[in-house]
Amino acid sequence: MSHAQKGPLYLTNTLTRRKEEFIPLRPPHVGLYVCGPTVYSDVHLGNVRTFTTFDLLYRWLRHLGYTVRYVRNITDVGHLVGDVDEGEDKIAKRARLEQLEPMEIVQKYTNGFHDVMRLFNILPPSIEPTATGHLIEQIEMVKRIIDAGYGYEANGSVYFDVPKFAEKHAYGELSGRRIDELQANTRDTEGMDEKRSPLDFAIWKKADPTHLMKWPSPWGEGFPGWHLECSAMSTKYLGQTFDIHGGGMDLKFPHHECEIAQSVAADGHAPVRYWMHGNMLTVNGRKMAKSEGNGFTPEELITGNHKLLEKGYSAMTVRFFMLQCHYASTLDFSNAALQAAEKGLERLMAAMDVLDKLKPAPAPDAAQDEAVKALAQRCHEAMNDDLNSPVLIAELFEGVRLINSANDGKVLLSAAAISGLQELFRAMVFDVLGLKREAQAAADDKALDGLVQVFIQMRAEAKARKDFATSDRIRDQLAAMGIVLKDTKEGTTWQRA
Ligand code: AMP
Ligand code: ZN
Repeated sequence: MSHAQKGPLYLTNTLTRRKEEFIPLRPPHVGLYVCGPTVYSDVHLGNVRTFTTFDLLYRWLRHLGYTVRYVRNITDVGHLVGDVDEGEDKIAKRARLEQLEPMEIVQKYTNGFHDVMRLFNILPPSIEPTATGHLIEQIEMVKRIIDAGYGYEANGSVYFDVPKFAEKHAYGELSGRRIDELQANTRDTEGMDEKRSPLDFAIWKKADPTHLMKWPSPWGEGFPGWHLECSAMSTKYLGQTFDIHGGGMDLKFPHHECEIAQSVAADGHAPVRYWMHGNMLTVNGRKMAKSEGNGFTPEELITGNHKLLEKGYSAMTVRFFMLQCHYASTLDFSNAALQAAEKGLERLMAAMDVLDKLKPAPAPDAAQDEAVKALAQRCHEAMNDDLNSPVLIAELFEGVRLINSANDGKVLLSAAAISGLQELFRAMVFDVLGLKREAQAAADDKALDGLVQVFIQMRAEAKARKDFATSDRIRDQLAAMGIVLKDTKEGTTWQRA
């Protein structure tokens, strides 16, 4: 990191609804917690947007030189269908439908989630804790909440007493809700034979005998409430007060509001200094969601095999499409926007190829050295301004114009200007935006395919005349170069090892 470019980072704190200078508690360390997926189904592109948003934050903090402990959990128990306090566990329901053990469901969809994260070049977190791996911590937290007077047991379940909590503490601050309004608007009667107030939420639920996922506790066999795991795990790994907590906007209420209340009740103070919320990916203005039937999976996206898709799009095209929008704005899915993103990304990557080969002009224009420095500064400032990736990308396209003009001999760049541009583009495009050259790899494969087909043909001819020494040599030598042939009924195909 160049110190000349150091400047304050501003982030929108959704708790205060203001852009605030980010000052970590214990620099150079930063503690970041992001709510991860509930692993009961394939992730859809909306989920990917939220994880991309926080990947961008993680990457930028690291670029600034911070040592980030990034905790992103896996919800593998306690999240009930409909996000409510009564009914079936999402994972248990899926296990029943697929006739698998709940933990097989958890493993299957956790693996799938990891594949998708890799596909979109989303970096793995430093710690990925699971709710089932932290039952003891959660039970301890329930005890502390009861001891503080904000939790009560009813028939083997434990509820958080929201009205009592609200007498002394702020409740609803994050989501901008007032307790009297909440009370007036509630029509919720689920669990009301046990709850003292409809605003109360479960922190421990009694499991009925048919329930598959349950553990012993001081209140009998049961399982933790959905909001509890994040409170227990974030503070376990990041401390009772930590820097940043993120998640999708839809988690503000009740999930994050409840997290705050739980920590304040158990530990006596608010857990998080900066709350950040990513906005939703929408389709025709409606939130992309599994229940809406408008959520496609990454696989459908790439193959184009979905009614919403005119064609397939690569993961990097989609990543670029998402980053062209500020994280706090909604992003509406459209084929036109994706096709524009595809062209834009191609132009950016093509300019980077040109930049790699650019030679300094014999009589360079010294003013361009300053222009490159100013460009780098503007890129840095865009990201420091609440992760303004659309502005960063617009600035990078200024750089693209400069690179292409230099390539045409219209602008004369010095060696310093060229290496400044190379450093800037590598840092911003690869490290910060997390884009990869996949178009190039695909183009390479296309060119390679022509060559490999010649060898496949030669091998088939050798086999036909029973010259197995030659056919085996062709196969083995290709394998040694990382090209694996596969004989199928339809003929021979190849892939990279
Ligand atoms: P879930 O597995 O449903 O708990 O969701 C995982 C993450 O994806 C959460 O942070 C949600 O806020 C986020 N999410 C769900 N739907 C969307 C969407 N349409 N756009 C952006 N983020 C979403
Ligand atoms: Zn959470």
